[in-house]
Amino acid sequence: MRSQRYSRIDAMLNELVNRMPEAESLMVLGISVFIVRGIHNTPRAFARCRYHLSYRVHMHVEIELATELEREPLATIRGVIAHEIAHAIEFLSGDPLPDDLDDLERRTDMVAEQLFGEPIYYDDRMVQCMGKGARGTRPRPDGLR
Ligand SMILES: [Zn+2]
Repeated sequence: MRSQRYSRIDAMLNELVNRMPEAESLMVLGISVFIVRGIHNTPRAFARCRYHLSYRVHMHVEIELATELEREPLATIRGVIAHEIAHAIEFLSGDPLPDDLDDLERRTDMVAEQLFGEPIYYDDRMVQCMGKGARGTRPRPDGLR
Protein backbone atom coordinates (compact mmCIF):
# COMPACT_ATOMS: atom_id res chain seq x y z
CA MET A 1 0.00 0.00 0.00
CA ARG A 2 2.85 2.42 0.67
CA SER A 3 3.60 3.33 -2.88
CA GLN A 4 4.20 6.64 -4.59
CA ARG A 5 2.30 5.32 -7.52
CA TYR A 6 -1.04 5.31 -5.73
CA SER A 7 -0.39 8.23 -3.42
CA ARG A 8 -3.83 9.83 -3.88
CA ILE A 9 -5.65 6.59 -3.09
CA ASP A 10 -3.33 5.98 -0.17
CA ALA A 11 -3.80 9.48 1.27
CA MET A 12 -7.59 9.26 1.01
CA LEU A 13 -7.63 5.86 2.63
CA ASN A 14 -5.63 7.20 5.57
CA GLU A 15 -7.82 10.27 5.86
CA LEU A 16 -11.02 8.22 5.97
CA VAL A 17 -9.68 5.66 8.42
CA ASN A 18 -8.60 8.47 10.74
CA ARG A 19 -12.17 9.79 10.69
CA MET A 20 -13.67 6.51 11.78
CA PRO A 21 -15.04 6.55 15.34
CA GLU A 22 -12.56 3.98 16.55
CA ALA A 23 -9.62 4.92 14.43
CA GLU A 24 -7.93 1.58 14.51
CA SER A 25 -6.00 0.40 11.54
CA LEU A 26 -8.15 -1.44 9.04
CA MET A 27 -5.89 -4.46 9.51
CA VAL A 28 -6.83 -4.63 13.19
CA LEU A 29 -10.49 -4.65 12.22
CA GLY A 30 -9.84 -7.51 9.81
CA ILE A 31 -9.89 -5.49 6.60
CA SER A 32 -7.16 -5.66 3.95
CA VAL A 33 -7.03 -3.22 1.05
CA PHE A 34 -5.39 -4.05 -2.27
CA ILE A 35 -4.95 -1.91 -5.35
CA VAL A 36 -5.32 -4.24 -8.30
CA ARG A 37 -5.27 -4.26 -12.08
CA GLY A 38 -7.99 -5.72 -14.22
CA ILE A 39 -11.15 -4.98 -12.26
CA HIS A 40 -12.09 -1.73 -14.00
CA ASN A 41 -13.92 -3.70 -16.66
CA THR A 42 -17.04 -1.53 -16.77
CA PRO A 43 -17.25 2.27 -16.45
CA ARG A 44 -18.63 1.89 -12.91
CA ALA A 45 -16.25 -0.79 -11.66
CA PHE A 46 -13.66 0.85 -9.43
CA ALA A 47 -13.80 -1.45 -6.43
CA ARG A 48 -15.13 -4.60 -4.86
CA CYS A 49 -15.37 -6.05 -1.41
CA ARG A 50 -15.28 -9.71 -0.48
CA TYR A 51 -15.29 -11.53 2.80
CA HIS A 52 -14.27 -14.97 3.86
CA LEU A 53 -14.00 -16.92 7.04
CA SER A 54 -10.53 -17.99 7.98
CA TYR A 55 -9.98 -20.81 10.44
CA ARG A 56 -13.81 -21.05 10.48
CA VAL A 57 -14.15 -18.41 13.16
CA HIS A 58 -12.50 -15.18 12.16
CA MET A 59 -13.94 -13.16 9.33
CA HIS A 60 -11.59 -11.31 7.08
CA VAL A 61 -12.63 -8.76 4.48
CA GLU A 62 -10.72 -7.80 1.37
CA ILE A 63 -11.32 -4.53 -0.42
CA GLU A 64 -9.92 -4.33 -3.93
CA LEU A 65 -9.52 -0.94 -5.54
CA ALA A 66 -8.84 -0.53 -9.25
CA THR A 67 -5.53 1.04 -10.23
CA GLU A 68 -7.58 3.41 -12.43
CA LEU A 69 -9.12 4.98 -9.31
CA GLU A 70 -5.84 6.87 -8.76
CA ARG A 71 -6.60 9.19 -11.69
CA GLU A 72 -10.17 9.98 -10.62
CA PRO A 73 -11.26 13.19 -8.86
CA LEU A 74 -10.71 13.15 -5.08
CA ALA A 75 -14.48 13.15 -4.45
CA THR A 76 -14.75 9.93 -6.46
CA ILE A 77 -11.81 8.30 -4.66
CA ARG A 78 -13.41 9.32 -1.35
CA GLY A 79 -16.89 8.07 -2.23
CA VAL A 80 -15.72 4.74 -3.63
CA ILE A 81 -13.46 3.97 -0.66
CA ALA A 82 -16.06 5.11 1.91
CA HIS A 83 -18.66 2.83 0.33
CA GLU A 84 -16.31 -0.17 0.35
CA ILE A 85 -15.23 0.40 3.96
CA ALA A 86 -18.93 0.47 4.87
CA HIS A 87 -19.45 -2.89 3.11
CA ALA A 88 -16.56 -4.28 5.12
CA ILE A 89 -17.95 -2.96 8.41
CA GLU A 90 -21.35 -4.45 7.58
CA PHE A 91 -19.83 -7.84 6.80
CA LEU A 92 -17.78 -7.77 10.00
CA SER A 93 -20.78 -6.76 12.12
CA GLY A 94 -22.40 -10.11 11.44
CA ASP A 95 -25.81 -8.47 11.03
CA PRO A 96 -28.03 -10.24 8.50
CA LEU A 97 -27.69 -8.63 5.07
CA PRO A 98 -30.79 -7.61 3.11
CA ASP A 99 -31.66 -10.13 0.38
CA ASP A 100 -32.43 -7.41 -2.12
CA LEU A 101 -29.23 -6.05 -3.64
CA ASP A 102 -30.59 -2.52 -4.00
CA ASP A 103 -31.60 -2.53 -0.32
CA LEU A 104 -28.16 -3.82 0.63
CA GLU A 105 -26.33 -1.17 -1.40
CA ARG A 106 -28.46 1.67 -0.06
CA ARG A 107 -27.96 0.46 3.49
CA THR A 108 -24.22 0.37 2.83
CA ASP A 109 -24.34 4.03 1.78
CA MET A 110 -26.21 4.85 5.01
CA VAL A 111 -23.50 3.10 7.03
CA ALA A 112 -20.83 5.07 5.14
CA GLU A 113 -22.68 8.34 5.74
CA GLN A 114 -22.92 7.61 9.46
CA LEU A 115 -19.27 6.58 9.66
CA PHE A 116 -17.89 9.57 7.82
CA GLY A 117 -20.59 12.19 8.37
CA GLU A 118 -20.96 13.15 4.72
CA PRO A 119 -23.55 12.26 2.06
CA ILE A 120 -22.70 9.87 -0.78
CA TYR A 121 -23.87 10.86 -4.25
CA TYR A 122 -23.85 9.02 -7.58
CA ASP A 123 -22.30 11.00 -10.42
CA ASP A 124 -23.41 10.97 -14.06
CA ARG A 125 -21.62 7.62 -14.53
CA MET A 126 -23.37 6.30 -11.38
CA VAL A 127 -20.07 6.11 -9.50
CA GLN A 128 -20.01 7.10 -5.81
CA CYS A 129 -18.61 10.46 -4.81
CA MET A 130 -18.33 12.16 -1.43
CA GLY A 131 -16.93 15.35 0.06
CA LYS A 132 -15.72 18.48 -1.66
CA GLY A 133 -17.01 18.69 -5.23
CA ALA A 134 -19.36 15.73 -4.88
CA ARG A 135 -22.68 16.08 -6.61
CA GLY A 136 -25.25 13.90 -8.31
CA THR A 137 -28.08 11.59 -7.38
CA ARG A 138 -28.89 10.53 -3.85
CA PRO A 139 -29.92 8.03 -2.64
CA ARG A 140 -28.47 5.35 -4.90
CA PRO A 141 -30.84 4.55 -7.78
CA ASP A 142 -32.25 1.02 -8.17
CA GLY A 143 -30.67 -1.46 -10.51
CA LEU A 144 -27.01 -0.47 -10.45
CA ARG A 145 -24.76 -3.52 -10.74
ZN1 LIG B 1 -21.54 -1.69 -2.95
